[in-house]
Amino acid sequence: MTMPAASLAAGSADTAPSSDTPAAAHAWHALAADAALQRLGASGDGLSADEARRRLARHGPNELPAAARVSPLRRFLSQFQNALILFLLAAAVLAGALGHLVDAAVIVGVVLVNAVVGFVQEGKAEEAMDALRAMLAPHARVLRDGHRAQVPVAELVPGDVVLLEAGDRVPADLRLLRARGLLVDEAVLTGESVASVKHEGPVAADAALGDRASMAYSGTLVAAGQAQGVVVATGRHTEIGHISSLLGSVQSLVTPLLRQIDAFGRRFTLFCIAGAALLFAFAVGVQGAAWLDALMVVVAIAVSLVPEGLPAVITITLAIGVRRMAARRAIVRRLPAVETLGATTVICSDKTGTLTRNEMTASRVVAEGAVIAVSGSGYAPVGALELPPGCGALPAHARRLIECGLLCNDAQLAQQGGEWKVDGDPMEGALVALAMKAGLDAAALRAGHPRSDEIPFDAQHRFMATLHARADGSAELLVKGAPERVLAMSTGQLDAHGQVRPLQPAQWEAAIAEAAAAGERVLGFAARRLPALPDGADALDFGDVRELVLLGVIGFIDPPRAEATAAVADCRSAGIAVKMITGDHAATAAAIAAQLGLAEQPVVATGADVDAASDEELRGLARRASVFARTNPEHKLRVVRALQAESQVVAMTGDGVNDAPSLKQADVGVAMGHKGTDAAKEAAQIVLADDNFASIVAAVSEGRTVYDNIRKVIAWTLPSNGGEVLAIVAAMMLGLTLPMTTPQILWINMILTISLGLVLAFEPPEPGVMQRPPRRPDAPLLSPFMLWRVAVVSLLFMAGSFGIFFWAMHRGHSVELARTMVVNTLCVLEIFYLFNVRYLHMRSFTWRGARGTPAVLAAVALVVAAQLAFTYAPWMQRLFDSRAVPLVDGAAILAIGLACMVLLEIEKALLRRWGVFEELAAPRPSSSSSTRESFT
Ligand code: ATP
Repeated sequence: MTMPAASLAAGSADTAPSSDTPAAAHAWHALAADAALQRLGASGDGLSADEARRRLARHGPNELPAAARVSPLRRFLSQFQNALILFLLAAAVLAGALGHLVDAAVIVGVVLVNAVVGFVQEGKAEEAMDALRAMLAPHARVLRDGHRAQVPVAELVPGDVVLLEAGDRVPADLRLLRARGLLVDEAVLTGESVASVKHEGPVAADAALGDRASMAYSGTLVAAGQAQGVVVATGRHTEIGHISSLLGSVQSLVTPLLRQIDAFGRRFTLFCIAGAALLFAFAVGVQGAAWLDALMVVVAIAVSLVPEGLPAVITITLAIGVRRMAARRAIVRRLPAVETLGATTVICSDKTGTLTRNEMTASRVVAEGAVIAVSGSGYAPVGALELPPGCGALPAHARRLIECGLLCNDAQLAQQGGEWKVDGDPMEGALVALAMKAGLDAAALRAGHPRSDEIPFDAQHRFMATLHARADGSAELLVKGAPERVLAMSTGQLDAHGQVRPLQPAQWEAAIAEAAAAGERVLGFAARRLPALPDGADALDFGDVRELVLLGVIGFIDPPRAEATAAVADCRSAGIAVKMITGDHAATAAAIAAQLGLAEQPVVATGADVDAASDEELRGLARRASVFARTNPEHKLRVVRALQAESQVVAMTGDGVNDAPSLKQADVGVAMGHKGTDAAKEAAQIVLADDNFASIVAAVSEGRTVYDNIRKVIAWTLPSNGGEVLAIVAAMMLGLTLPMTTPQILWINMILTISLGLVLAFEPPEPGVMQRPPRRPDAPLLSPFMLWRVAVVSLLFMAGSFGIFFWAMHRGHSVELARTMVVNTLCVLEIFYLFNVRYLHMRSFTWRGARGTPAVLAAVALVVAAQLAFTYAPWMQRLFDSRAVPLVDGAAILAIGLACMVLLEIEKALLRRWGVFEELAAPRPSSSSSTRESFT
């Protein structure tokens, strides 16, 4: 029944809260479920789509107000909260006051450019994070027009009927209509850490929030069970809306690496300022320089040396990594994961749906004395059952087995655009298709055997049971689950004549082993007759599932994903071990592992082995085994810990509510976007939009690229600054004419900050990025090779700028022209060095290297244009005291740049040949060896 919108609007204060009246004031918990539905103008079949739209317009979206944003102005001003910037501004004021207007203007220019660049970069990074938040917008399962549908949580309205299961975050305040074994963790609301038992019966009107068992409140987490509830309040009218205006933390842009760089930057700034003060004292005290000139120069040096733009450039590098990962279907929830992914040494992955397609098709039906092969693929009910020789029709006991699969089942099949799709669990969908292939009328059978109670499937107990009333007043319990589990609960088996005889476990174990060895996923089916339907709401409990009669087993094929096989091969060549951790049967898992090429000879451990091993033994087992079968979530947690104790960096996938602890424990927790529960997604750092193993590997490759790019940014920035500064400091110490003026030093710093430094953030992965072993997680960013590079390149830059300066003086040029040539030389050196640094692991003299990327080409074009203006535009000449450089000198400058590039390439080649630095090791062409061989 759906009340017209008008009557709802005109309803009493008891209708869904359209005002600010708290939902609690309506005491929904004290109403009977039917009365609540009636008051909401809703029905147990859910709202119609039209009605939902009308209500959404009236009540607004089901969202809490977003956290207040830092205003753009505040963000801009925060760019000036930096000791160095304040120091620079003070210098500008001083210079201005003393009449050095050009110096003052240039300093202010540098400061402003820095602030604008920092502001824009931060904005970009925030935009990237916003886009991710939108991609992670949660969905809820509801009934609309009597059908199950997924809708964005923001579109829920009062009156919607919501379906809940274990792992769901309750999307709005609900009055429960039906609850089965429902346990809800309400810690966010009540602080109570023990999950509350919920049921649909009304409770006392004056019950405290924590005692309202008939309600499920928005933001709380379903720990176990299943339920349906009607939405009574949304958005800020919910209980959580009253307590806090904000749900879910806002992603912060700080990562351990950034913190490290920030701390380094701060120490380095102090060091520079102290060095500059000493230099100033030396110039004025010892060499008798004019104090203002000396001050201006040391300020410029300090500005050049301090990599003030570095944290901003690194933030943007991370943000670009996040965007690229999202494009490859891996959504980053916490930024540090981007860094950790690059160092991952072991990926522990689920099997079903991640390594395999999770598109199940029943392929064999085994009842006593009959093995029936089933043809067809996908969920289309097209295919035939190959009956055993001598059987004209489907034997009755096999038919009962297939019926059991259809009734102990929540899935539905529907045709969409000519294709058969499953709504629910894929294995259950396959059972519906099987029933249809066997010629059963699925809808009629289900209607004829109404379900009166159930025990939902849970990875912990590995079976599902349903209770059905029979026409003669008796009842039947149907069970399906992991075959060993069902076997263990059975005492008899059904034979071909419909008779129950004692169970023959060996016969079934052989049948299960045969199917599993073929890589099939196997389910066992059993039943028990009860003389009458038990009374009471929760009629069925675990104690009833015993003394079953085994009906048979069914094998399903779930082919490996083609791209997963390729991704596993990539991992092996990248020195990353892949371990399959699955709830499935050991033989099935081993067969799939072999198909995927997980290891030459996959070593299989079972959950029982994990239980039997001490922590110490488990470390060895975790290293050796590449398949863990019949595991539960607790085993996962122990395996992660064991691997971490072996100094591995572990990425772990998960989807269930009980996977949250191991996802949190792993260095990178990866949740499934489709089949993952809210609990798993919230615990994870990364969510896979397509549940696909290959996406994890793509994310690892992006993670490695991000780290490479950060190193490139640093490898480029530090020596570029260092060379320039060394030249000035050496000239000052030796009492020589300075090779650059203060505004010129600042000019170089400014144009480089806005252009060249940034482009390295956009670098695509170097070829061979997945043929290197993982980096050591504890490796310092400034590795011995980087320090060597900073020193060598700084010296080369110094030599280049001094060389051109003296050459110009030697040719009889004016000091002004010589200085202009020095500035141009530094720019040219930096451009050439940029091309060198783009490939840290291979030759840069390649067509690919010379072609660059659009970002590189744009930045180089910008710098060249700016530099030409600096040299030839009259107004620039007036501002910077520069002179037009003659052609021959221009050629000499280019030659210096080229010579420097050639020298650095030779250096890279020699260092690689001699194997001086481990990190320069050439990419391995095949998967033959790895530094962590024992793990792959
Ligand atoms: P993975 O952990 O790789 O996703 P999985 O899907 O096999 O593997 P679980 O979902 O934990 O792992 O399932 C464990 C076992 O429980 C399965 O191997 C199967 O035997 C049984 N099972 C799975 N789904 C159902 C279901 N809907 N009803 C009954 N039994 C099931």
